[in-house]
Amino acid sequence: MAAQKAEGIILKKYFLRETSYILVVFTKEFGKVQGTIKGVRAPYPQFAGNFEIFAKCELLFYKKSKRPLDLITQCQLVDFFLPARKDIERLTYANYFIELINIVAADYDANVALYEALSKSLSNLREGLSARRTSRIFELKFLQALGLSPQMGFCVDCATPAEDNVFFRASSGGVICAACGGGRSQDEPASRGTVNFIKKIQETDIDKTRHIKVSRDVGEQTEKILKKFLKYHVDRPIKSLKFLEDLKKIPLPCYPHKLAGMTPLPL
Ligand SMILES: [Zn+2]
Repeated sequence: MAAQKAEGIILKKYFLRETSYILVVFTKEFGKVQGTIKGVRAPYPQFAGNFEIFAKCELLFYKKSKRPLDLITQCQLVDFFLPARKDIERLTYANYFIELINIVAADYDANVALYEALSKSLSNLREGLSARRTSRIFELKFLQALGLSPQMGFCVDCATPAEDNVFFRASSGGVICAACGGGRSQDEPASRGTVNFIKKIQETDIDKTRHIKVSRDVGEQTEKILKKFLKYHVDRPIKSLKFLEDLKKIPLPCYPHKLAGMTPLPL
């Protein structure tokens, strides 16, 4: 079979014998590709950075029809997202994106919108955009690419426009008004600002979302809503999310931004 070319982001790597790797790559053109790449580890340390998790690369590979693993013959580094690797919060969010993509992506099932959500969110982390806002935008575009966008415009029960006094119910897939029983223990309050922020992200091309501002209250409410919604749909533990929760418990003077000599970023 002819060699295939693809642009991709590395989701996982495994050591294979002394000089080779098995790579799991989420490609724009083919979805998830899993293959072996030979003769690139010691004594060839100059290639080491090419195969790190969330590095973007250009692949050349041969699809093996009767074997579970393809043969990758080239993996050329395109973007290492270096600044995102130098800050523990950004690094953890990047790993969180990778974990989510690895759960939902399927072999040879391309999803360009999902790929763009990942690629552009990693670029936003690299360029210094608020890590938490980048994560909210990624989560919403991730859900949208999978056809799972939460319904924010109207109450999911009575179709009344969502304005004040509404709640978000993950199991119903959107907002529910107080008149329809919103406000149960499993519901999260959704202010008008939160509803509008989520709708705005859903309606805006990801390239333009980086300019959408959000208050701390709206950011925190959106985070709680999306955490519940993702847990409902992605029903498995996310290791990096647990680590992010632990990071938040570190007292401010020890917070990693301070350690790195940086000012904590606004939400
Ligand atoms: Zn209602």
